[in-house]
Amino acid sequence: MVKEIAIGSTAALLVYALAGGYDVTPVIFLAGILILMRFLVYGKEMGRKFEVLGGPEQKNAPGQVTFADIGGQEEAKREFREALELLRRPEQAARLGVRPLKGILLVGPPGTGKTLMAKAAASFTDSYYLAASGSQFVEMYAGVGAQRVRKIFQEARSLAGKAGKKSAIIFIDEIEVLGGKRGKHTSHLEYDQTLNELLVQMDGIGSDKEKVKVLVVAATNRADLLDGALLRPGRFDRMVRVDLPDQEGRLHILKIHTRRRPLHDDVDLTTLAKETCGFSGAHLEAMVNEAAILAMRENRETITAADFKEAIDKVLMGEKLDRRLRHQELERIAYHEVGHALISELVKPGSVSVVTVTPRGQSLGYIRRHEDNDQYLYTEEDLMGQIRICLAGAVAEKYFTGSRSTGAAGDYRQAVDLAERLIKAGLSDLGAINPDTVPTKSVHEETQRLIKGEEKTVVLEIERHAEQLAKAAAALLADERISGSRFRELVGLPEIKPESAA
Ligand code: ATP
Repeated sequence: MVKEIAIGSTAALLVYALAGGYDVTPVIFLAGILILMRFLVYGKEMGRKFEVLGGPEQKNAPGQVTFADIGGQEEAKREFREALELLRRPEQAARLGVRPLKGILLVGPPGTGKTLMAKAAASFTDSYYLAASGSQFVEMYAGVGAQRVRKIFQEARSLAGKAGKKSAIIFIDEIEVLGGKRGKHTSHLEYDQTLNELLVQMDGIGSDKEKVKVLVVAATNRADLLDGALLRPGRFDRMVRVDLPDQEGRLHILKIHTRRRPLHDDVDLTTLAKETCGFSGAHLEAMVNEAAILAMRENRETITAADFKEAIDKVLMGEKLDRRLRHQELERIAYHEVGHALISELVKPGSVSVVTVTPRGQSLGYIRRHEDNDQYLYTEEDLMGQIRICLAGAVAEKYFTGSRSTGAAGDYRQAVDLAERLIKAGLSDLGAINPDTVPTKSVHEETQRLIKGEEKTVVLEIERHAEQLAKAAAALLADERISGSRFRELVGLPEIKPESAA
């Protein structure tokens, strides 16, 4: 409206000046240059659209994704849904004085379903959905990114209002591009302005006058790169991990993607799920698609097990997958993990909740332990126990496969840290020391002595339980994930519930 009035008045002024005999050529020339400059700087941005889902025209469109379309990720879905309840029940939240939720951060490797989650959140909360990628906000011209941030928030509010929605979800993929730590970029003024604008917009969310509630859902696989201000309470104060799916998750994803595809009788999805350790949801989707293409190429009506076998190789060869483990590697990881699990049980009975060989984050397998209650004081025996747990993976690898691997590097680092902590606290044979003045050589020697001593105990325990550990490792290889109870049963340890696991 303001724009129309301004254009109208300028045109009227020009006509008036022309009729009065003034020379308006310089004014027109100057205006032309200004328009051209504005177009060059902002032109791209003007034409750029954010992805929209949930407008009136898209109601019940096939683009609507629900949580049922997301395979596996049960924990992430549960956490995410819990957070979204605040948006679904705003009145109750307001009555109880709950601070409105402004941002949820989804963290995980590429292709694990973060975008799907954001879309499902929009259907779940009946919100308008607007999506953009972090790189869409970043330009070399100062101020453009900040303007785009303002624009997406404005659009979210106005489009949601027009569509009769009470809330809008703005999804920003690759948030690390725009939300990286400030002052780190070469053209940092532009980056910083863009991030500052996002912070300002997020701070503005949640006022009582707001007709449309806005929630920002962002995704990244590098949460460590994000500026601290983004993770502060009141901004992205919920973080949901969306990891690579385990065997059960992969089976679920395969079922979803083969739902409408004709499969031959010889296809066994459970076997396929077993053979695709390390695949993300996107890899599985690509694999199913590849198998269908192979069947089509041979004019077959159904997709066979052989098609899937070839499709797995195609996805791998296409370098679409950065990490797939060979069988020997998986075997080694299984021994490594059951080693950790055994010593963990001996140190604290009933402490293991899950053992798995599914890659997660930087680790190739892991054991999950029941959360320890916050502990502020550690005894010498506590720390020694933790050192033994760290060492057990490498010791088990050595016992069962004859060698150790780089997979234990992180464990050793942790063991050394623990030993140094023990020494600095005056709990070692060095006695009470001043950490600032004690020679590094002495600390190093004492660390090695402590670690070697604990390692001997671990070797004895692994040897004593070797037969049962081999059984547990075989079960782990077959199922990829075993519960703590199953592990205890296989190794012949009593089922004890730790106080903190209740
Ligand atoms: P990126 O980090 O690369 O943006 P992403 O985590 O956002 O990836 P999506 O874009 O959600 O991943 O997933 C890409 C495709 O992979 C989806 O369209 C879907 O076909 C498939 N996919 C990924 N994860 C799942 C899942 N958990 N269930 C079903 N399909 C999935």
